[in-house]
Amino acid sequence: MSLRIECPHCGRRPVEEFSYGEIPTVPDSVTGEDARDLDRAFMLDNPEGPSTERWFHTFGCRRWLTVTRDTRTDEVLS
Ligand SMILES: [Zn+2]
Repeated sequence: MSLRIECPHCGRRPVEEFSYGEIPTVPDSVTGEDARDLDRAFMLDNPEGPSTERWFHTFGCRRWLTVTRDTRTDEVLS
């Protein structure tokens, strides 16, 4: 079974209806416009364990929601 996300407006829906929407942050130690663009595009965090994420319900209510997901198990915690 694929990951399902609880939308407060639409109920429990398959992850395929959502788009991941976190805007990555770039450390201040990375300077220069090109270096910051490169970091933003490719140096994404890959945390292990509970992670707070933003998802957009693209094929539903078209609203943003905050989800806490355990990246080890894909279990949605809240
Ligand atoms: Zn929704």
